[in-house]
Amino acid sequence: MLSTQRIERLRRNLLENQAHLRRQLANLTASSAEINVGSGNHMAEDATAAFDQATIVSLRRSQELALAQVDQALARMMQGAYGQCERCQEEIDFARLKAVPHAPLCMSCQKLVEL
Ligand SMILES: [Zn+2]
Repeated sequence: MLSTQRIERLRRNLLENQAHLRRQLANLTASSAEINVGSGNHMAEDATAAFDQATIVSLRRSQELALAQVDQALARMMQGAYGQCERCQEEIDFARLKAVPHAPLCMSCQKLVEL
């Protein structure tokens, strides 16, 4: 079992990540709005704008995914199920949680999923 101290430390990490991701998402939304306003005059600008827009969309997607994982990890913490692998129900290594506090899977299950 993870000690209360360790959980508390990981919870702070998760909350920091959550705040960071929310700020980034807000920035991306703001720059995406700017691009929309500035586009439409020249074809080259349109192409750049379209490229930027696509980059922003894919960035946003990955940030939203990361944020969802962080939210889920915090929810699991509330339920007392944090640190348990969602696939094999084994305890996830503390070293792994320190590196990736929102990890839903243990190292061996993660490897299986990535294959
Ligand atoms: Zn597992």
